[in-house]
Amino acid sequence: MHAKTICKVLGGAAALAAGSALGVVGAVCAVRAAKMKPSRPDGAPLGANGYHAGDDAVGRFQELLRIPTVSRDDPVLVDRRHFARWVPTLRRLYPLTFAACELHMIDEFGILMRWPGVNSAFDPIVMMAHHDVVPVEGQVWEHDPFGAEIVDGEIWARGSLDTKCIIGAFFEAAEHLIRSGYTPPRDVWYFSSNAEETSGPAARDAVAWLRDHDIHPYLVLDEGGAVAGDTPLGVKVPVAMVGVSEKGHVDLTVTAHADGGHASTPTDIDAPRLLARVCEHIAAHPGIPCFTEALDATLAELASRSSLLYRLVFSNLWLTR
Ligand SMILES: [Zn+2]
Repeated sequence: MHAKTICKVLGGAAALAAGSALGVVGAVCAVRAAKMKPSRPDGAPLGANGYHAGDDAVGRFQELLRIPTVSRDDPVLVDRRHFARWVPTLRRLYPLTFAACELHMIDEFGILMRWPGVNSAFDPIVMMAHHDVVPVEGQVWEHDPFGAEIVDGEIWARGSLDTKCIIGAFFEAAEHLIRSGYTPPRDVWYFSSNAEETSGPAARDAVAWLRDHDIHPYLVLDEGGAVAGDTPLGVKVPVAMVGVSEKGHVDLTVTAHADGGHASTPTDIDAPRLLARVCEHIAAHPGIPCFTEALDATLAELASRSSLLYRLVFSNLWLTR
C-alpha cells in the first residue's frame, strides 16, 4: 500500500472513531435526558383551587393586612398602638389556635407560641415569620397600602408577601387542623418578629428564650422562596422554591501600620497604599462559584419539567457543568 493511501485509511479510521465516540456521548446524553423525570407530580395550577374574594380566609388575611405594623429604625417613631392590636386581632380570628397554644411575648410585641405535640420529648419544629412591614412614605401606590383592596383577583397591601402571607397561612392551617382534631407528632413553635425589617432584637431574644428553656429545634423554617409562577428554565407549572441556604456576607477589619513621613517623599509602603493593596487582593479572590447538591437537585427538578434542550443540558452536568 502507498504511504498516501495508508495515511488516508488511518485518517478515515480516526474520524470514524471520533465520530462513534461522539455518537456514544450523544446517546448517553439522550438516554439521561429521557430518564429525567420530576420526583413529584405537578401541583394544581395557581388559582385553580385558590381562595377568592369573599372567602373567609381572605377576609381574615385582609384584616391582618389592614393593621399598619410599620417598624422604623428609630423605635420612638414606631406607632405602638398598631402593634398592640396585633395579638388581640389574631386571637379573635383564630380562637382555637390560641386556646391550644401557649403564648409568650418577646420584647413586648414579638410572638413565640408553642403548639404542643403528641410527644414533646422530640425536638420541635420552629416556623418563623415577621409581622412588621417597611414604611410606605415617599412611595407611590396605586391602591391604599393598608386598604387590602382586591383588584382583579389580587390583594394590594404592604406586607401581603413580606410576610403576613406566612402568618395567615400558618394560622389558617393550625386553626383548620385543630378543628379537625389533629395534634402534631412533635411540638411546633411559631415565632413572629415585630422588628425584623429593622434588625431588631426579637429574633435574637427568642433564640435566647428557647435556649434558656433547653429547647433545641429539629427544623427551623423562615421566610424566603415562594410558589413561583414565573419559573426559570421555561417551566410552565408553578414551583414552590424552598431555600436551604442564603447568600451571606463577611465583615473584615483591616489595619495597616507604617511609618509616618512627609507627603513630598511618599514611600512604597505607606499605610493607605498597603490598605489599597489588601482591598485589591481581597477583591481579586472572590468566592469560587460551585454547584451544590441542593442546586443540582433544584436544577434537575426544574429541567425535568422543561423542554428537551434543558433536559439534555441539566441531566448531563457531568459534561455541561
Ligand atoms: Zn421579610
